[in-house]
Amino acid sequence: MVRYVYDFTEGGRDMADLLGGKGSNLAEMTRLGLPVPPGFTLTTEVCRVFLETGSEPAGLWREVSAHLAALEASAGRSLGQPDDPLLVSVRSGAKFSMPGMMETILDIGLNDDSVLGLAKVSGSERFAWDSYRRLVQMFGSTVMGVDSSRFERSLALLKVRRGVQDDVRLTASDLAELVETYKNLIHLETGAHFPQSPAEQLRRAVMAVFESWNGERARLYRRREHIADDLGTAVNVQRMVFGNLGSDSGSGVAFTRDPATGRPGLYGDYLPDAQGEDVVAGIRNTVPLAELERLDATSYDGLRTHMRTLERHYRDLCDIEFTIERGTLWMLQTRVGKRTAEAAFVLAAALADEGLITPDEALDRVSGEGLARLMFPRFDTSSTGTALAHGVPASPGAAVGAAVFDSAQAVRRAAAGEKVVLVRQETTPDDLPGMIAAQAVLTSRGGKTSHAAVVARGMGKVCVCGAEELTVDTEARRFTAADGTVIREGTIVSVDGSAGAVYAGPVPLVDSAVIRYLEDGTGDGGARGVVDAVARALVRADTVRRLDVRANADTPEDAARARRFGAQGIGLCRTEHMFLGERRKLVEQMILAGTDAEREEALADLLPLQRQDFVGILEAMDGLPVTIRLLDPPLHEFLPDHTELAVRIASAQARGEEPDAHDVELLSAVNRMHEANPMLGLRGVRLGLVVPGLVAMQVRAIGEAVAERLLAGGTPKAEIMVPLVGDVRELRLVREEVQRVLAEVSRAAGVALDCPVGTMIELPRAALTAGRIAEEAEFFSFGTNDLTQTTWGFSRDDVEAEFFSAYLDKGVFSTSPFETLDREGVGRLVGIAVAEGRAARPDLKIGVCGEHGGDPDSVHFFHTAGLDYVSCSPFRVPVARLEAGRAAL
Ligand code: PEP
Ligand code: MG
Repeated sequence: MVRYVYDFTEGGRDMADLLGGKGSNLAEMTRLGLPVPPGFTLTTEVCRVFLETGSEPAGLWREVSAHLAALEASAGRSLGQPDDPLLVSVRSGAKFSMPGMMETILDIGLNDDSVLGLAKVSGSERFAWDSYRRLVQMFGSTVMGVDSSRFERSLALLKVRRGVQDDVRLTASDLAELVETYKNLIHLETGAHFPQSPAEQLRRAVMAVFESWNGERARLYRRREHIADDLGTAVNVQRMVFGNLGSDSGSGVAFTRDPATGRPGLYGDYLPDAQGEDVVAGIRNTVPLAELERLDATSYDGLRTHMRTLERHYRDLCDIEFTIERGTLWMLQTRVGKRTAEAAFVLAAALADEGLITPDEALDRVSGEGLARLMFPRFDTSSTGTALAHGVPASPGAAVGAAVFDSAQAVRRAAAGEKVVLVRQETTPDDLPGMIAAQAVLTSRGGKTSHAAVVARGMGKVCVCGAEELTVDTEARRFTAADGTVIREGTIVSVDGSAGAVYAGPVPLVDSAVIRYLEDGTGDGGARGVVDAVARALVRADTVRRLDVRANADTPEDAARARRFGAQGIGLCRTEHMFLGERRKLVEQMILAGTDAEREEALADLLPLQRQDFVGILEAMDGLPVTIRLLDPPLHEFLPDHTELAVRIASAQARGEEPDAHDVELLSAVNRMHEANPMLGLRGVRLGLVVPGLVAMQVRAIGEAVAERLLAGGTPKAEIMVPLVGDVRELRLVREEVQRVLAEVSRAAGVALDCPVGTMIELPRAALTAGRIAEEAEFFSFGTNDLTQTTWGFSRDDVEAEFFSAYLDKGVFSTSPFETLDREGVGRLVGIAVAEGRAARPDLKIGVCGEHGGDPDSVHFFHTAGLDYVSCSPFRVPVARLEAGRAAL
């Protein structure tokens, strides 16, 4: 038979699915013999039945009555008994903690009669009436739906009438009067009376807590924390103990170690003569826990002992809530405590040192996301004011600088030593120099995989994108926030890429010690600091991981940094950035070429420039593989903007002047090359097959760079990668050309060139025909950005800002598939391609170089899928190392 209710003596910590976090831990503490007020838990299953059917499961109240009877028997009095009432609390408790998101109702069992009994047995009329008015208020708002501000207003009014500031100055008769006011208010608002029957109070309170699972706040919180909507909450019914019975009573919260730094020592706050709710609400000032030692040494010692017991038992940092009722200590809650990223690393290392956990467990206790947070400078949030706007937290970290509105201005000011924040509606490849020069990038449009986001992340640059509340006026060189604040060029703004917030003015920054360590091995003062802890976690991860970690890098500087961060090569060197800046003219010439000779001339001019780029990168990654991708984006991305050209020409004509001939020629090329869906158009391998000489020039540059490095005594390991292949014949054609050119270069240079040729798998057709493609490919690299785009049919440049938030709201997915790999769909294609590719070519090397290569969840997937390596931006390399290690545990 299904059971719906468990006594605290029957459960345990391994029953969190059924009893929720709070319930299972209360049971665990009970089992450990700690002083826990008795009670019982209604399971999450009750909530699920209620959510599905709209009513509670049959037989529930019979079970509840039986448990209540046992509770009454142990207490020697009954719920709401008029002369000496047993009172209970009703609290939510889901499997995952959702602090403050659901409801709690205290003091159930009080009514017009039992309040008098409570006054007598407690010896305090004031306490009894205060408890009663808390119940009526909580019940009235939570269960009966009266706006809680109505109660607060009545309370405030009474205080004014009595001429007091503090609640504690209200007398018993004041509070009795307030109870009457509250009851009348409830009747007025709802037409119903506050229920006097303790059993009815209990039943309705329980149902209200279950209902609060679907409250707006709770739903929002779950979405943000990726907690499933169908888990449901448990409800705990527990005998009330009171911390508000005078100076020998009180309530507090405590941590077994410092949750901010992970350092040892009891941390917490205590509030004498108060209920637990008062501590959390922060109405009155708490005192540090150490003060309790002076106030009540016996309880303090008891608390310390219990906390030691808990930390040993859970083998982790625990936080607790406790109440002292007239000198008796009660434990009301414990759980493995939330902690900052820093504390997680420090604590894991410390617990391993203390022998409480193994090195592998220590690795499992930290996370790549936590490490990423530690790598960025942070804002000192104690001093942050109200944000000007919020957007997508696209690339974490904190940056302060003068707002600038175009790339050239960013470069100019940065060159003069100024720190700048580049503000655009959205960015294009043209903004790259400005992005490099800026401390942060802020856009009013675009999502996590918009150009701004991807590029900024790649550079480890702070980025908030899609801050739609901002109106960016590039012409007028200013932006306006929703509240009307105008930020002009040169005004200092602060951008928090971790929280997705923008502030006016400078917010102070704290440097990352972890980055210093990764860059040059500088520690932070020895053992037990966060740097030491991070280093140990990374060493462990490197020992156990099976996946290699490479970096996506297109410059020698990025390559060198990636190497310092532990990259084992480059998994993706995008060559398109080598076609920008001053070289753009040459690309234009190549595109506009009327004859083969003109084209060849432009390509010949590009060749030495590309070669030098490759030499630098191969040198920085000497001895490690460098996967160079042939040119991928549609060519028109290298031409000026259509509208800009058209406007230039039209204004010349309007002035009666002859338009610039070059502009006219460019415009006609732009028109000729216009594509409705450029992402599905002439790009990738298709370019190589239709633009004569393009592949040859690039391969020659690679081959000559390799030869140069070989002759200089280096160990270059270039791999040539063909993008956007959908059919083996495409790859075969390009590969033949690659090999022809490499053979020529090899002959001319007099050195053997061994450059494996492989392909990206970034179209569904490529994945589905991977067995055929593997005949021509020595390696595969999954381009999961395009593969996600083409599998879902989502344009990666547009969709996120437009309808992803609706999809997230409606639960179509809980994270963007551009961020965390969609295992079910895209992942299935990956699985097929790995299996069929390896079946055709057992030694096929397989990696991934889409953004997912640095995403923790996706790294775990790639480990399981049997890839050889993941490749990600240099700043994600340590994150991927850590997660690849955790995946192997
Ligand atoms: C990809 O598509 O995943 C990829 C790495 O290539 P790009 O992002 O340059 O299209
Ligand atoms: Mg791609």
